[in-house]
Order: sequence, then structure tokens, then C-alpha cells
Amino acid sequence: MHFASDNSGPVHPEVLAALTEANQGYQMAYGTDTLMNEVRDQIRGIFEAPGAAVYLVATGTAANSLALATLTKPWETVFCSPVAHIHEDECNAPEFYSGAKLTLVPGEDKMTPEALRGSILAEETRGVHGPQRGPVSITQVTERGSVYSLDELQALCGVAKEYGLPVHLDGARFTNAMVALNCSPAEMTWKAGVDAVSFGGTKNGLMGVEAVVFFDESKAWEFELRRKRGAHLFSKHRYLSAQMAAYLQDDLWLRSARQANGNCARLADGLRAAGAEFLHEPQANMIFASFPRSKHRALHDAGAVYHLWGAELEGEDEDEMLACRLVCDWSIGEDQIDQFISLL
Ligand SMILES: *Cc1c(COP(=O)(O)O)cnc(C)c1O
Repeated sequence: MHFASDNSGPVHPEVLAALTEANQGYQMAYGTDTLMNEVRDQIRGIFEAPGAAVYLVATGTAANSLALATLTKPWETVFCSPVAHIHEDECNAPEFYSGAKLTLVPGEDKMTPEALRGSILAEETRGVHGPQRGPVSITQVTERGSVYSLDELQALCGVAKEYGLPVHLDGARFTNAMVALNCSPAEMTWKAGVDAVSFGGTKNGLMGVEAVVFFDESKAWEFELRRKRGAHLFSKHRYLSAQMAAYLQDDLWLRSARQANGNCARLADGLRAAGAEFLHEPQANMIFASFPRSKHRALHDAGAVYHLWGAELEGEDEDEMLACRLVCDWSIGEDQIDQFISLL
């Protein structure tokens, strides 16, 4: 019963098989392997963007930081949610790589167009003395398990465009959002006004690969220089390419995300039936819910693994409602979910 995160599960067997298959003979290094040519074409194909620039890196932090650095001047500021991964969970790597700062758009999780506009208007007001306006970074699926609708994405991108600002999408859970919305990659990105995407793979079955996609090819060379200078250009790059090729082969990316979201829906139904309270409506593969300490204790004693959310298991009051975060990946079996629910 492991619900700690979608990066604590195994690598999908089809990905490991692809790595073994790629592990033969010789290949040119540093992203010039033949598999990368296929991956580039496949990603351009799924995004319906024949001119897109496509790169692979091994972590989401590298994808976000290098993408944002490419879109941002050091004297600019990046607009994002106060709970954005780039703000809370990347040890200032976006600031390190870009030399810029972040401006937190007031809110709980999702940004609203009104709040974004307010934050944009409040910057670039002090001439040479203050930060200049820079890109907007949107997380899809959000850090609290919510999914922006296409209308919401378009509205945020619309505000950014009014001020001539580029938009970055942190898609560590890109495919979970896409299958939840039942839309195409193009609809969730450039058709809505997104300029660059961190297209996650690790949390959805890969060993460690995220693609960075720029719909404006003119950013390509700068990104390449930044990736190398930032020490994220892999020499035995074919093993990144092989993972991403396997991800896109036979719709593995879609199958995995549907499985993860389906597991999450089953778990959410069970929690609801057991009387748990939801902090956010689960829309993809993450749940934030509260139930009594006594139940957490029973689950903990039975070996369930997940994070409490701003709460401690230790305490006297057995009826106190404690919040937790439960994340499902593709690999969680129905038996694990049902066991969890029956303990609850
Ligand atoms: C997991 C995650 C990332 C990537 O994190 P790494 O640990 O650097 O791979 C980026 N953004 C979000 C929203 C995430 O959840």
C-alpha cells in the first residue's frame, strides 16, 4: 500500500526492455543518437508542431530551470503560484539557472487570471530599480492535484500575451492532466498559448527522463548551450532517448496515465464512502484528504506508506482529523487500494 508519490513506484517493464534493446553496439553521443531523431519526430507529431525544438533531460528540476532560464532575462521575474514546484521544491534552481527571481501570484494553488493580472501590473513599476516582467509558469496537474480546464489555461495565457510575456507549462504530470481533460497535447499547450513545456516522464513510468519542448525554434540553440553549461547534457544520451521512445511506443504514456488516474479514482471513491473529507477535489492521480488519527494509525501499523500533510501521527486525540496526501502511479494494484479502503 504505497501512496507516497508517483516517483516511488517501479520503472515500467516496457521501458526497461527498451533500455536493454538500446544497449547494443555503438551510438553517437550527446543527443546525436539515431533514437533521438525518432523521439524528436514523435514528440513533434504528438504535439502537432513540426517545427518544435525538443530536448531530453533527466530531472524535472532541470527541465523547468533550463526552460525558464531560456525564457527569462536575469532582471526579469517569473510569475507562478505560491505552491509551485519551482518555488517550493527546486532549491532555487530556477533562480540559479536564470539569474531571475520569482513573483508569487496570490492564491491557494491554481492561479486565476485576475490574480495573475494584478501581479503583472504590480511589477515593472519602478523603472530601472525593480524587476521587469518575465514569463508565467503554470503547473498542470497542479501541486494540489487539480487540473486547469482548457478555458482556464487559455485565460491565463491570454493575460500573459496581453503583456507580451511567454508562458511555460510545468508538466511533470502532463499526461495525467491530458487524459483527465481528454484533450490533445496541442490543445493543452500551444493552441492555448503555451510557449514551452516540461513534458514529464519519470512520474509516469520512466526511469528518469523529461522532455523540454519549445514551440518557438529560435530558442533551440540557447537551450542547448544552457543545458551543456548547466551540466545536463548526457553523453550516453541514447539511454534517455530509449526511455522516451518506449514511453511514446504503443501509447505507453497514455496507458500509464489512465491507469494512474483510474487507481486514484478508485481510491477516492473508497475514501468518500468511508467518510473522508477532501481538501481538494481529486482530478488526476493525487488525493488530499483528512480522516481520524485512529485510522491513520491502523493504516500505518498495517504498513501503508504515504505522507501526512501538515500533521503528526503522534498525538492523544484519536478522533482528530489529520490530512494526508495519497498519490497513485500506474503500478498500484487494485488489491492495494481495496486493502487500504477496508482498513479505513
Ligand atoms: C515532481 C515534480 C517535478 C520534477 O521534480 P524532480 O524531482 O526534479 O524530477 C516538477 N514539477 C512538479 C509539479 C513535480 O511534481
